[in-house]
Amino acid sequence: MAGLSASQLSFLRKRLTELKAVAVAALRRSQGELKGEDAELLADLHRTGDWAVAEAEFERDVAGAENARRAIGDILEAEKRFASGTYGECAACGTAIAFERLSAQPTASRCVPCQQTAEWRAPGR
Ligand SMILES: [Zn+2]
Repeated sequence: MAGLSASQLSFLRKRLTELKAVAVAALRRSQGELKGEDAELLADLHRTGDWAVAEAEFERDVAGAENARRAIGDILEAEKRFASGTYGECAACGTAIAFERLSAQPTASRCVPCQQTAEWRAPGR
């Protein structure tokens, strides 16, 4: 897939899975529905990696349930691209998206120039 190595892909796949767990927990928490299993899942993530930091960043970004829902949608779309073998390819021009960009934003679906073009065409979105 798009010039990424197997280890880079498995790293990004894992990150997406963890982001989804955090996003789902954030959504439930925002709705006052955080269940025991979600709390345990988060505790596991904290034990196994640097997810305390990721979660803090995520919660700072997620102002409310709507944002959490959108984030989950983005993550599910990225997982679909994984399943179809197009993950890491720019949706607009087909170029391989740099690993550094995907590492910072695993749900990125466009390369930097195309993302900038899209934002220029649709300001504020
Ligand atoms: Zn592109």
